[in-house]
Amino acid sequence: MVKIAKFGGSSVASAEQFQKIKKIIESDDSRRFVVVSAAGKRNKDDNKVTDLLYLCYAHIKYSVSCEGIFSMVEKRYREIKDSLSLDYDLNRDFAEIRSRLNKSVSIDYLVSRGEYLTARLMAEYLGFDFVDAKDIIRFRYDGQVDMEQTREAFSKEWEKHDRMVIPGFYGVMPDGEIKVFSRGGSDITGSIIANLIDARVYENWTDVSGILMADPGIVEHPRRIRRITYQELRELSYMGANVLHEEAIFPVKDKNIPINIRNTNEPENPGTVIIPHWGKDDHHLITGIAGKKGFTMVAVHKNHMAEEVGTVRKVLQAFEDYGISIEHIPSGIDSVSVVVSGEDVHAHLYDIIANIKSNCGPVMVKVYEHIALISTVGRNMAKTPGIAGRLFGALGEKDINVRMIAQGSNEINIVVGVDDEQFENAMKAIYNCFQDQ
Ligand code: ASP
Repeated sequence: MVKIAKFGGSSVASAEQFQKIKKIIESDDSRRFVVVSAAGKRNKDDNKVTDLLYLCYAHIKYSVSCEGIFSMVEKRYREIKDSLSLDYDLNRDFAEIRSRLNKSVSIDYLVSRGEYLTARLMAEYLGFDFVDAKDIIRFRYDGQVDMEQTREAFSKEWEKHDRMVIPGFYGVMPDGEIKVFSRGGSDITGSIIANLIDARVYENWTDVSGILMADPGIVEHPRRIRRITYQELRELSYMGANVLHEEAIFPVKDKNIPINIRNTNEPENPGTVIIPHWGKDDHHLITGIAGKKGFTMVAVHKNHMAEEVGTVRKVLQAFEDYGISIEHIPSGIDSVSVVVSGEDVHAHLYDIIANIKSNCGPVMVKVYEHIALISTVGRNMAKTPGIAGRLFGALGEKDINVRMIAQGSNEINIVVGVDDEQFENAMKAIYNCFQDQ
C-alpha cells in the first residue's frame, strides 16, 4: 500500500529543506505521492511566499507596482533551483505570471503560483512526475470539492504516473478558473489525495514533532501526544491547538486513514498519529488540553423558568438574530447561561440583552466578560471515576475559581470557564495533575 507525504511551507522553504525531503522520500519506497505547499519562512523574520503573493494582489488592486514584492518571490525560487542545479525553466513560468499581473488577474490564480512553482521544482528534484492540481481537484460552483469528478480526473492521471508531486492549496472551478482553499489548505489537498489512493497513512510533514499535550508557551515541555482520535483533535483544534487545517480531517475520515504529523527537521521522531478510533488497549486518561481567552457569558435568570416552555429558545434566538455562534449553554433550574465569543458579541451586547428582556418577560440578565474556556480532552475520562474530582481539586488547590462547567455530549472532554487572568495558571494546574497518568 502506498503513502502520501504532504510537506508544509517551512519544509519546502529552501534548497536545504528540499534535500531533507529527498532523504525522507527515498527512505521509504511506498512514499509515492507528494503534496507541497508554497515556500514558507526560513526563519522567524522571513516571509511566506503565499503572503507575498496576496500582497502583490493588494498592490495591483490599488494600482501600485508590485514588482518589488514579486521579485522577492522570484528570487526565492531561483535560489532553490540554482542551489540544487535543476534544469526546470523558471523563465517561462515567471514570464507567464508577469504577463498576467494586471487588474484583471484572478487573486486565486496569483496566490496559487507558490504551490505550483514549489511542485515544479520538487518534481524534478525527486525525479517524480509533476501533476497539476488544476487537472485533479475539481470544485463545484458552490465552492465544495466534487469528489466524484476529482476521483475520475485523478484516476486518469494515476494511469500515466505512478510517482507524482502535486501542488497543494488549489483546484479548478467548472469554468476552468483556478480556485484556492482557505489558508493552510494544502492539508486538505493531501487529505483528498490520501482518500483517492486509499493511502495506508497520510503523512503530514511540518516543523513540529507532532502535537503536544498543551501549549508549550504556557506549560513547560509538555509531552508529545502519541495517538489521538480525529474527534479529540477536533476538540483541541477548536480550542486553539493548530496543527492541521480543520477541513483536512474529513476526506481521510471517510476511509479511516490515519494521519501522521511528522517533523521534516527531525524525521526519526514518530510524531503524532491521528486515528479514527481508540484501540482497546489505550488506557491513558487525558489526551490533551487546550483553551482560549475572551469569552462572554450572558446569564439569564427567570423565576419558574423550569416550568415554562420556550424561554431558552427565545434567549438563543436573540443571539441568532445577530448571527452570533454559541459555544456553550450551561443551565440551571431557573436559569440558562449562554457563552459566546466576546469579540463577536461585543458590538451587539446591549441590543441582545434588550431583546431577551422584551421577549422573555421578567428576567434578570447578568453579563460576565473575560472568561477563558479550557477543554480537557480524553476519551477515557468519562468512564473513569474521580477524573472531574481530580481536575476541580487541582484548580481549587491553586485558588482558581471555576465560573462555568460543560461537558460535550460525546463525553470526550470537560470544559471549564475561568477568569481570563487565571487562564495560564489553570492550564498548568490541569496539566500537572494529569502528568503521571
Ligand atoms: N500556502 C498556503 C498558505 O500559506 C496554503 C498552505 O500552505 O497550506 O495558506
